[in-house]
Amino acid sequence: MKALVKAKPEMGLWMQEVPIPSIGPDDVLIKINKTGICGTDIHIWNWDEWARKTVPVPLITGHEFAGEIVEIGRRVEDLHVGMRCSGEGHLIGHHSRQSRAGKFHLDPETKGVGVNVPGAFAEYLCLPAFNVVPLPEDIEDDIGAILDPLGNAVHTALSFDLVGEDVLITGAGPIGIMAAAIARHVGARHVAITDVNPDRLALATQVADVRPVHVRHEDLKDVMAEFGMKQGFDIGLEMSGNQAALDQMVEALTMGGRIALLGIPPGKSPVDWSRIVFKAITIKGVYGREIFETWYKMIAMLQNGLDVHKVITHRFKVDDYRTGFEVMRGGSSGKVVLDWT
Ligand code: NAD
Ligand code: ZN
Repeated sequence: MKALVKAKPEMGLWMQEVPIPSIGPDDVLIKINKTGICGTDIHIWNWDEWARKTVPVPLITGHEFAGEIVEIGRRVEDLHVGMRCSGEGHLIGHHSRQSRAGKFHLDPETKGVGVNVPGAFAEYLCLPAFNVVPLPEDIEDDIGAILDPLGNAVHTALSFDLVGEDVLITGAGPIGIMAAAIARHVGARHVAITDVNPDRLALATQVADVRPVHVRHEDLKDVMAEFGMKQGFDIGLEMSGNQAALDQMVEALTMGGRIALLGIPPGKSPVDWSRIVFKAITIKGVYGREIFETWYKMIAMLQNGLDVHKVITHRFKVDDYRTGFEVMRGGSSGKVVLDWT
């Protein structure tokens, strides 16, 4: 089969012919239809410090996918050949205290599909049946292929009750933009999203009814005044990994405000703790998706009016993957989806 492989410890990914994986008794084999390119894949392409530390070479990459089950292991129940599916790319262990308590997303033994173990940028993927998420008919493969990052946005946005709250999102990448759509969908009052990239802010307004804020040209205080806010935002969703954005968020939050942090800073980042203490701010780190509560809620929202179609800005046949990666590396696109059919 064809697969996009990190074949050499240097920049790039290479399309190679590799064997179709054989599955174990608890696995399924999925024929991949569509995949999404993630920021993580860009780190792997760029072969940055994180990738060099984390990714074994050679490795089939990719973890955002939609496809169809073509084979099931002998112990697998409830799934059948022909089912369309996406799936959770975090492979958990079942021995830790967290897993045994049902908090699967907190399992410290988690391995990443396409990061630590062979991934979904291939014609076929072997996945534990446990990780499979069947796709309802009304969720097409394009959306199925971006459920992983949509799940990051859902997990982060639903960290706190947003109903009637004023929400500030820092970072209008694909995940920040989808978080804005979710905040709207669940009934936030005002939603603002910041970035330093006008293309991203323009895309945000196409996907969600959100106030875009270019932080180099506009002061958040003016936006707050425009909204008639007396104190500040109630909830912050940090989705840039940028230090200045986090500082700005802390400043823009009301007393007792709450922040969910998804963005990953490139290294250690200094925090003005006294500001956080005196404003009595709650901070929650967010990793991955809740397994499988996030998936359940995400699919329910998609079937009830949450619309993130426009966040997919580019589609390519997989043979044009180099162009897809170039677009994604440009940093101004939304999601880029590759077609394997
Ligand atoms: P992205 O890199 O596409 O988007 C980040 C955005 O932040 C960019 O549009 C960038 O222009 C913007 N930005 C930079 N400086 C800014 C500033 N000062 N103020 C406001 N915005 C600024 O990333 P993404 O794919 O949308 O993911 C969002 C973040 O979430 C990334 O940091 C990613 O690494 C992280 N992430 C975390 C998890 C997790 O499990 N915790 C999972 C997926 C992604
Ligand atoms: Zn991803």
